[in-house]
Amino acid sequence: MRLSDVRLVRVPQNCASAVHAHLRKVGRDGFEGLGLWAGRQSGDVFTVEEAVIPAQKHIRTEDGVCVITEAQELHRLNVWLYRKKLSLIAQIHSHPGRAYHSSTDDQYAVATTVGCFSLVMPDFATGPFAINRLASYRLDASGAWRSISASQAARMITIVE
Ligand SMILES: [Zn+2]
Repeated sequence: MRLSDVRLVRVPQNCASAVHAHLRKVGRDGFEGLGLWAGRQSGDVFTVEEAVIPAQKHIRTEDGVCVITEAQELHRLNVWLYRKKLSLIAQIHSHPGRAYHSSTDDQYAVATTVGCFSLVMPDFATGPFAINRLASYRLDASGAWRSISASQAARMITIVE
């Protein structure tokens, strides 16, 4: 079974809260934040086991703000995932306003395996963390991030106790 076969992602509440807390924290300083979910796949169900906040640079440009994880950190992350036999299933980042996948987001995605999800939280993550409030995308076999409707995303990704 491959990541693209996953039909249900189970996210423990503490993994959702850890990422949300980080996004809110950097959002208070006017920056975008990035968090990741890693875990294991069994059949078409993926269970998240770890929330990861990678080392990241919060950058402000004339065009706005963006968040970058550099090559060295990506390498460290991949070694850690390999040793723990975990896979990345999703990246979650925040935007100052409207949530969508920008061309920069497409280009600098951290989760790059077909079947991974990319979730974008609006308004510097000030609101409650609920899947149907996020803009959700999934990486398809052609390498494109396909938009998923809020209701579809909420059915596929469930936050569990
Ligand atoms: Zn973005």
